[in-house]
Amino acid sequence: MRIGIGYDSHRFVEGRRLILGGIEIPYQLGLAGHSDADAIAHAVTDALLGAAALGDIGTHFPPADERWRDADSMMLLSAAYQLLEEQNYQAVNVDVTVICEAPKIGPHVPAIRERIARVLGIATGQVSVKGKTNEGMGWIGRGEGIAVMAVALVNTIDD
Ligand code: MG
Repeated sequence: MRIGIGYDSHRFVEGRRLILGGIEIPYQLGLAGHSDADAIAHAVTDALLGAAALGDIGTHFPPADERWRDADSMMLLSAAYQLLEEQNYQAVNVDVTVICEAPKIGPHVPAIRERIARVLGIATGQVSVKGKTNEGMGWIGRGEGIAVMAVALVNTIDD
């Protein structure tokens, strides 16, 4: 068994869609970023890569690389997970906390859990997603952006 931690943050901007965990969430602001700025996908990717000590999302998918402009980050998650599978790792569970004042994450949790589970080929019950506010404090409290924390447990398949 090995555990990994992931963190990501993105700034809210006008004129972009808000994509979290591969799900488009109706909101008047989106997230700035080179890819689709899916902070859940990025944090989960880093947690999984971290569990296997395989680097991080930036080393595998550099933001300076034009291939990843507006990239679907769930595809990056899938590609990163393939690197783990090549080393006989499989995800045991993933737990995610999304921190923002708005929009409310709760109504979208079931869809996000299903999407992450499908990409990783695991059961929805192995994926947890929780929304929190920052109680109005700091940059998150001012609604400037969103932060996501994730942990992932993986184990190795002995063959
Ligand atoms: Mg990111």
